[in-house]
Amino acid sequence: MKEYQPKILSGKPAAQGIGIGTVWILPDENKAIRPEKIKKNEIEKHIKKFESAREYLTIEYEKIKNIPADYELAEIIDAQIQTLNDPEVKLSIEKKIRVDYYTVEYAIFSTFNEYIQLLQAANAKWANERMIDVVSIRDEMIEATWEKKKDFDVKEGQVVFATDISPTNMVKLSHIKISGIVMKKGGFTSHAVILSQSLGIPCVINANWDRLSLKKGYDVIIDGSTGQVILWPSWKQSEEYRKRRLDGLVRYEKALEWAQKANRTTCGYPFVLRANVEFLEELPRLESHGAKGIGLLRTETLLFEAEEFDVNQQVNFYRNVAKASKNESVTIRLFDAGGDKILENSDFESNPFLGWRGVRMLLDKKDLLKNQLEAIYRVSGEFPGKLKILIPMVSRLEEILAVKKLCKTVQRVLSKKSVHFDEGVKIGVMVEVPSIALTAGRIAKHCDFFSIGTNDLTQYTLAVDRGNERISYLFDSFHPAIWKLIKMTKDAADRHGIPVAICGEMASKPEAAACFLGMGINDLSMNTASLPAVKSVLCSHARNEMEKLSADVLKSEALKEIHELLEPWRAI
Ligand code: PEP
Ligand code: MG
Repeated sequence: MKEYQPKILSGKPAAQGIGIGTVWILPDENKAIRPEKIKKNEIEKHIKKFESAREYLTIEYEKIKNIPADYELAEIIDAQIQTLNDPEVKLSIEKKIRVDYYTVEYAIFSTFNEYIQLLQAANAKWANERMIDVVSIRDEMIEATWEKKKDFDVKEGQVVFATDISPTNMVKLSHIKISGIVMKKGGFTSHAVILSQSLGIPCVINANWDRLSLKKGYDVIIDGSTGQVILWPSWKQSEEYRKRRLDGLVRYEKALEWAQKANRTTCGYPFVLRANVEFLEELPRLESHGAKGIGLLRTETLLFEAEEFDVNQQVNFYRNVAKASKNESVTIRLFDAGGDKILENSDFESNPFLGWRGVRMLLDKKDLLKNQLEAIYRVSGEFPGKLKILIPMVSRLEEILAVKKLCKTVQRVLSKKSVHFDEGVKIGVMVEVPSIALTAGRIAKHCDFFSIGTNDLTQYTLAVDRGNERISYLFDSFHPAIWKLIKMTKDAADRHGIPVAICGEMASKPEAAACFLGMGINDLSMNTASLPAVKSVLCSHARNEMEKLSADVLKSEALKEIHELLEPWRAI
């Protein structure tokens, strides 16, 4: 019998939870319908098929609206229903049947394809997301005209692998109690992700399994909190994840109760937990999950979405975020494009993570940077004392000085135009390249705060590409070198009297968060889903226990020892 070794695939975590089951693959719906003609006496039959397909799908979409969801799901579905019943779409399909004598399938196919081509020409992220919707309506409508509908033989407990999943397919899946979803595509705001979060189905996106020659029935585990997919897990791994899944469910339920409690350890030491945010859709969770403002606002999405770069579009985005954060601060990170977030039309780089990324790109594209700074300063005037600027991927002092110089230029321009802005907007530096942690004392003299990005700090310190699944076992932020660099940064910041926050994934691990508090770093920012669990652990211990923990961790020589020390702190 062939032995299958465990294989790990790394995607992006999209909906929390652990899914254990067997692989089921959703066939790609990319149909190529041939332009076949019908006879005159068949016209009415095809028109009727079109009408009943439209009615059937409208009812199916109405059913989706009844699923309770956190976000604006109803709005999304309404948009689908509108497209379905759009008079122009109807007219075009009917014309292709009545005048051109095409089959109903081809009439639908070519009508929607004309729309898809327009979206393709737009070449922007919003258009891509819309395209997924239109393709799914096209294919669902064609299928609805068939007498015999396609088989959907997924069973309870299976993990669905798909290129992308349409909302109606999501609904079918939700009735079957699947264990998880892995998608090649998908965005954090795609319908499938929004629905899987609402339905509590663990979900991993941007995981390309092409190289794995997947087959139905293979054993698989997915971790919706880390983005890991383990194919052919060992018995030991299965047992470990089964236990984790159970623990996770119990913990999350219990932890949510902590969200509204005061942010203090048992001995009264205060701490601040903030949210890492990228999309407006995430904002409602600030309150329900107990976040005090935003410690990291990732802004790259704006850059990918924009067709033409527009200050007003950014102003609206920052204003909405600032409003949602009530009285708490918002740290806006300047565009961190490059690395794995490659802009269209950028030149090929053989090593993008060590290339034209973050502040390096911004200083090359000064107009882009000036636009972003202008938008931030404009909004700052409406929310004095609230906004902060964070510079990504800094590797040397000169980069900070150059950005600060541009801030002054933008301020002068705004003053000349009599635009009111907050002169006191703080400017911070991401500590995510080892050179900055190692020279933190010198850097601290030139900025207002540090925010430690442990994801990149780990990647650059350990020389492990954070997106390469082959070496993902080496990507371990608990490595002694990382703790040492964090401690050096904190000490340097203390000497120069500037605050330090953590905004990398490490902050979302309760055991690491406890250790940070022990080191005196009590400002932590993380994905909203992790906030309750982190808070429950921090609120359940005294500061002196955490000080001992961090002293022990910092003394440790081996990774294994550190993991053993931290293990009891993973949950209350
Ligand atoms: C980090 O590197 O830790 C970080 C927070 O930034 P990003 O993950 O967006 O690179
Ligand atoms: Mg980073």
